[in-house]
Amino acid sequence: MVCNNCTLGKVTVIGAGVVGLTTALLLQQRGYDVTIVADHFPGDKSIEYTSPVAGARWKTLAPNSDLRLQRYDAVSFNIFWELAKTHAAEAGIMVVSAYDYHEKCDENVLNPWWKTLVPTFQTIDKKELPDQISVGYHYTTVLINPLVYLPWLLKQYFALGGKHRKQKIDQISDVISDDTDIVVNCTGVRAKDLGGVMDKSITPTRGQNVIIRAPHIRKTISMSRPDSYTYVIPRCDGTVILGTTKDTNSTDHNINKNTTADILKRAIECCPDLSLSYKGIADLKVVGNVVGIRPTRKGGPRVQNEYFKLQSGKQVLITHNYGHGGSGFQSSWGTAQEAVRLIKQGNNALRNDTKNIRKLLSRL
Ligand SMILES: Cc1cc2nc3c(=O)[nH]c(=O)nc-3n(C[C@H](O)[C@H](O)[C@H](O)COP(=O)(O)OP(=O)(O)OC[C@H]3O[C@@H](n4cnc5c(N)ncnc54)[C@H](O)[C@@H]3O)c2cc1C
Repeated sequence: MVCNNCTLGKVTVIGAGVVGLTTALLLQQRGYDVTIVADHFPGDKSIEYTSPVAGARWKTLAPNSDLRLQRYDAVSFNIFWELAKTHAAEAGIMVVSAYDYHEKCDENVLNPWWKTLVPTFQTIDKKELPDQISVGYHYTTVLINPLVYLPWLLKQYFALGGKHRKQKIDQISDVISDDTDIVVNCTGVRAKDLGGVMDKSITPTRGQNVIIRAPHIRKTISMSRPDSYTYVIPRCDGTVILGTTKDTNSTDHNINKNTTADILKRAIECCPDLSLSYKGIADLKVVGNVVGIRPTRKGGPRVQNEYFKLQSGKQVLITHNYGHGGSGFQSSWGTAQEAVRLIKQGNNALRNDTKNIRKLLSRL
């Protein structure tokens, strides 16, 4: 991947989670001169940095009624699928069989929009469904190990000449100067508190997961019940993520031991072969727990342009790309492509404005 002509404009991307890294990589590939500014980069751990603790897999949450979210997830699925063919090991991507079970039915469950997108989609025969489950499917999907994938994204970005700076910012204007043409806001859940943005549509949704060692697991399972959501997500390093909780409006970074016990119980119920000898929870080799905060946003992610006027009169384009909830990985390429499209559109409009003003002034 070569950045042939970095003359399209100077861009500062705020954020080095999956959204910021994907957007920065695409922009650098397209010929922009990009600097990522963030206080956390791959390798760092913080409750304020969600991406490293994600599952993470492609299992869309886009409803049948939302074509915008469907497009983001479909674009991303296709790119992850191609990456799995060509860069599986170095990018930490696995292709596996998926089994989804739903206790309650609605139109999204009965007739999922994505059944023609993923390979091998089949409805599971009613006779084979677990107790109280009314619908189940089997299909093929991609799993992403964030601890491998995020450093891989950053490496691709650096290979193209992308720059970075570790810095905490309080106001979006902290990264705007006469030198800046474009700022891309990929601050995740912290867009809620960032000066100049303060998006009150964001609600933090806490998720606690357990990590076990079980290299024999090569399938992903999810079980949706009205009072719980349970999943089993293997990773390419032999560990398996068991989840989860969805604690609305909570940013508690502490591990709750009762929650750990509950997750293990739910996980072994929906996947008894987590224990090779079928001996139950006591046989599971727990290697850790993680907590992360999903950047849930009313109406879905904000992918949108805005303009900021400097005292000098110069206009700077701000493109927002944040608020991906529990879908930051599975929508990352789709939202990044949309952000890049908006940046091109907004930047062209600014350049034409400047040209027109110069023309006007030259006639005076
Ligand atoms: C338990 C759990 C399981 C999940 N499972 C999945 C899954 O299976 N599939 C899926 O698609 N998604 C999943 N998600 C959701 C996914 O993790 C998030 O949507 C995604 O990580 C959000 O990425 P982001 O880049 O927007 O934010 P983050 O990863 O939080 O990154 C934000 C970046 O912005 C920087 N930043 C923010 N504010 C400032 C500031 N003021 N100054 C400087 N830097 C700043 C941070 O340092 C960081 O670099 C899961 C989430 C959780 C918690």
